[in-house]
Amino acid sequence: MQVPSRRRIIAGAFAAPALLAAPAVLGQARARLVVVGGGFGGAAAARHARDAYPHVDVTLVEPNRSYTTCPFSNLVLGGLRTMASITHDYSGLARRGASVVHDRASAIDPARRVVRLAGGGEIPYDRLVVSPGIDMRWGAIEGYDEAAAQAFPHAWQPGAQTELLRRQLEAIPDGGVFAMSVPANPFRCPPGPYERASMVARWMKANRPRAKILVLDAKDAFSKQGLFLDAWKELYPGMIEWVPATKDGRVTRVDAGARVLETAFGARHRVDVANVVPPQRAGRIAVESGLADAGGWCPVSPRTLESRLVPGVHVVGDATIAQPLPKSGFIATAHGKHAVDAAVAAIEGREAPDPVYFNTCYSLVGDGYGISVVGIFRAGPDGFVETPNSGGVTPRNPDARQREMETHNGEAWYRSITAATFG
Ligand SMILES: Cc1cc2nc3c(=O)[nH]c(=O)nc-3n(C[C@H](O)[C@H](O)[C@H](O)COP(=O)(O)OP(=O)(O)OC[C@H]3O[C@@H](n4cnc5c(N)ncnc54)[C@H](O)[C@@H]3O)c2cc1C
Repeated sequence: MQVPSRRRIIAGAFAAPALLAAPAVLGQARARLVVVGGGFGGAAAARHARDAYPHVDVTLVEPNRSYTTCPFSNLVLGGLRTMASITHDYSGLARRGASVVHDRASAIDPARRVVRLAGGGEIPYDRLVVSPGIDMRWGAIEGYDEAAAQAFPHAWQPGAQTELLRRQLEAIPDGGVFAMSVPANPFRCPPGPYERASMVARWMKANRPRAKILVLDAKDAFSKQGLFLDAWKELYPGMIEWVPATKDGRVTRVDAGARVLETAFGARHRVDVANVVPPQRAGRIAVESGLADAGGWCPVSPRTLESRLVPGVHVVGDATIAQPLPKSGFIATAHGKHAVDAAVAAIEGREAPDPVYFNTCYSLVGDGYGISVVGIFRAGPDGFVETPNSGGVTPRNPDARQREMETHNGEAWYRSITAATFG
């Protein structure tokens, strides 16, 4: 992989603040766009900036040398994918001329318009795009902290946690209980927990047919619910039990040592494996830089994705308050691209274009059995607005060819979005 250029990093001790803050609009300098976070939102922003605005300098700050996607990580649990097949590097972005700096942004100084790096030094920007994803709200479920996540993995950030959960699944006894704790909205990937239950069931049906899946939910309704429940009845009869909040599904306490999950009305579930997906908030750098509100997510202008709290900084992807847009990789890439259009327009003194955000989320529920949800959204005066009658879900009871086609569409979606983002 190409060694990232550090030529534009200025050591903090020698940086002249006035120079760093100088805008590129004066004519002589190239505009400087800096992107923090190389996931779907940030990598799409950097790629789009290179493709559409070759006159702008683009720097991507991302600590990791490769990115493992959450999309299709449930298929790793189901035994249909390898981790290597969902891992991408940044050589494509570097080849396209983005400076990829493998470091962690430790602070954002909006007055001086610089990003500070954990490894030392600063990067100046004219406009900044921040796409840090999510962090877990440790302690929101009593007893669930980073140590407990080693016993009861969340596997809701890509990588090592997925591998840990896969190993635990492989060790489950036949007749054992695989429990999931699912949070209330908003959280990353609304259909994700139910696709996960389906993929775990797929693996169990072949390998531990007497094992059970207990889905303890902090909600009473979920994305593509009718389609998932139909599929579970058809493919995995008696294997998956979904417990909504009103039937005591909300997990309030975990005891990883005793392997117990406790729910709001006092039930205690002893389990063999627990996948605890806790409540979430915007990634730490967003919170520490004042980009997030008291609720832990980042308010943005729907038209420009510029932060409502820190001028000159655009926040994209899961970290934003953007309901009814789902926190999806598809939306994060659309956000990333639009934020760049808005940022460059601001640098050049133009009005930002009017955005349209498309989303499709495919879920694989079994072999040759896929379902999807589609939506189109625009910027309204007070927030994001779904275009009436523009979307919907796979029809219930379609013929088998429709379900099969959805699996191919899902595969094609994954190939094209990863190629368009990291390729
Ligand atoms: C099980 C599961 C299945 C999913 N399936 C789908 C799907 O099928 N389709 C879909 O569209 N979406 C899916 N998603 C959702 C999707 O993964 C997220 O919506 C998407 O990753 C959000 O992109 P992001 O850029 O906001 O955050 P991320 O992808 O998490 O990227 C954040 C990046 O920022 C970096 N970062 C964090 N802090 C710093 C810092 N201080 N300095 C520098 N870099 C930093 C991180 O290292 C990371 O690379 C799924 C999610 C899960 C959990």
